[in-house]
Amino acid sequence: MDPAFESLLVRASEKPKALSVPELARLMSAADAEERRALHAAAYAVKTRHVGRRVSVRGLVESGNACAKDCLYCGLRRSNARVERYALSADEIVAVAEAAKARGYASLVIQSGEIESEAHTRFVEGVLKRVAPLDMGVTLSLGEQTDETFRRWKDAGASRYLLRIETSDPAFYAKLHPSGHDWRRRVACLQTLKRLGYQLGTGVMCALPGQTPEMLARDVAFFGDVDADMLGMGPYVPHPDAPLGPAAEAPDNAVRLRMGLNLIAVARLHLHDVNVAAATSLQALAPDGRERGLLAGANVLMPNLTPVRWRAGYQLYPGKPNLDESAEEATAALERSVAAIGETILWNARGDSPHFSGIATSVAPRSSFVV
Ligand code: SAM
Ligand code: SF4
Repeated sequence: MDPAFESLLVRASEKPKALSVPELARLMSAADAEERRALHAAAYAVKTRHVGRRVSVRGLVESGNACAKDCLYCGLRRSNARVERYALSADEIVAVAEAAKARGYASLVIQSGEIESEAHTRFVEGVLKRVAPLDMGVTLSLGEQTDETFRRWKDAGASRYLLRIETSDPAFYAKLHPSGHDWRRRVACLQTLKRLGYQLGTGVMCALPGQTPEMLARDVAFFGDVDADMLGMGPYVPHPDAPLGPAAEAPDNAVRLRMGLNLIAVARLHLHDVNVAAATSLQALAPDGRERGLLAGANVLMPNLTPVRWRAGYQLYPGKPNLDESAEEATAALERSVAAIGETILWNARGDSPHFSGIATSVAPRSSFVV
């Protein structure tokens, strides 16, 4: 192997944020099998140093697919008239949470399209208050909102928020979104969430058309700049009813998966103690995609506990796995696949981000990061 590549891995493993953007880009570009194996093994070693060979789980409920946004890559975009829109009732969401808790999930993720309205804010507030007695870690992933809405949801019991920046490059963001979608507002939301004391989750997709390893390296540096506690990253999978189309550099699922695994590994090597989710899109690309994500440095899985009858309505991309798998089946399959790679699921544990736990008193955004 290239000795310069190897020495990058050694330096990155020693301490967080040890590498420059060009050096991160070099790791991101690892293409031959030997380099990729070494990259993933180094990231796995850093992960195990911080969280052991243990996997934190969150039950995912996709609470609705209506969306006011029109992101050019997403199957749920508001212009996609083929999607039948649904919204779970508060009772249904609470029932998922109760069943999840009974099964050993101590954390829940509520995700949906983006809706900004007083009625929606109040609805989510009501759900959070009903879920609070279950004493679960609750992550929201409900898009951009006002500071006031974020505050109300925090007060009602949400402790984590996942808002992917999608790309740290404003010009590239403008290519992925139509007008009216504002990168600066997304960054401002991340800063507000941090200030309010949420565990902050962000992330990007990889394998997007026009994206380079340097851009992804800058994305990883950005995660450090906003002091992210958790990351959700996965390969972009083109959707036939969304206009973005595929990337020439990522013509097939195998290449997309490779990029996704490299991104997880590079982010782990740069940030060390954050929670990193193995995104569902990895599993859409290969049956063992999630497990390979764990072996490349991820430590969080989010099995889909959305009632089966609604699941097909939440297709960001084609090939979404487990459309008809019940929550029991999902949990059993998860146990088997995680055990097969020598890891253990942490049931009945919230699995808070070690990064957050260590800095809980310091929530001010970096002063160097100016919008
Ligand atoms: N609406 C909220 C938002 O955008 O933040 C939360 C739900 S949104 C569906 C969650 C994530 O799905 C997005 O942040 C985006 O990165 C990802 N996503 C959308 N379309 C995708 C696609 N075609 N392939 C892979 N991931 C996709
Ligand atoms: Fe809506 Fe999120 Fe899809 Fe964008 S990525 S269209 S905000 S659901």
